[in-house]
Amino acid sequence: MADRVSFLNINFDRMPESEAIEVLLARLLKRQGGRVYYGNAHTMVTAARNPALAQALEQGDLLLADGSGVRWGSAFLGTPLVHNLNGTDLVPSLCKNGAAKNLSIYLLGAKPNVASIAAANLKKAYPGLIIAGTQHGYFSDSETPQILEAIRVARPHLLLVAMGVPLQEIWIDQHANLLPGITCMGVGGLFDFVALRIARAPYFIRVIGMEWLWRLAMEPNRMWRRYIIGNLVFLSLVLSFASTLNQGEQTT
Ligand code: UDP
Repeated sequence: MADRVSFLNINFDRMPESEAIEVLLARLLKRQGGRVYYGNAHTMVTAARNPALAQALEQGDLLLADGSGVRWGSAFLGTPLVHNLNGTDLVPSLCKNGAAKNLSIYLLGAKPNVASIAAANLKKAYPGLIIAGTQHGYFSDSETPQILEAIRVARPHLLLVAMGVPLQEIWIDQHANLLPGITCMGVGGLFDFVALRIARAPYFIRVIGMEWLWRLAMEPNRMWRRYIIGNLVFLSLVLSFASTLNQGEQTT
């Protein structure tokens, strides 16, 4: 059963993967629209110093827990988010389950050509899936209205926004209300993985919760700040939240 769990003052929706797919597919096919996000340690660290991101996460319709950092930190604080629901695993499952129901998706984000290669690979894997359109993620504010219009005309059930944290969440927060009936989901580096531009960690590394170490090894120049410094900041956020909780308990 799904329930809401507060972790570092942000509300997550806790549910197993099978339920997440069911809930998401129902939302998409009913054309409920809305905003769906994933929260991992990097998201939490960024939200702690970026109020626009914290607000976007708070105003989303679903926030799913992603990664071993969030799993460990939430368990440490006594509110365990036990299911790891990253978009890189969930989106292909969603496409697989939705393909027979004419699910249509639009891919927005990543470097030029990456979204179209990712779309072709998804289509090859799930032939029933409808690709409503693709657009790279390096566009200016002045191009945004025409990009929104193209998405509105294509009218996908699901808009995947792969522009990285916090850009994708803030973009969705600002524009989802202009896309009625279309669910927007922030998916980070998903297109790079599906287009096979960046290799995903082998299954056993993912199972033991070490995908972050793999990503660090794949892109050390870009990722060292996120995973070395970011993980330490995340640790200090969790520890200082725990000490606030302890102080609260001692004074009551
Ligand atoms: N990206 C983009 N527009 C930008 C900046 C980044 O489309 O202005 C893309 C980038 O090409 C990459 C993705 O956003 O495909 C970010 O991937 P990352 O793995 O960093 O995502 P995160 O883990 O931050 O969610």
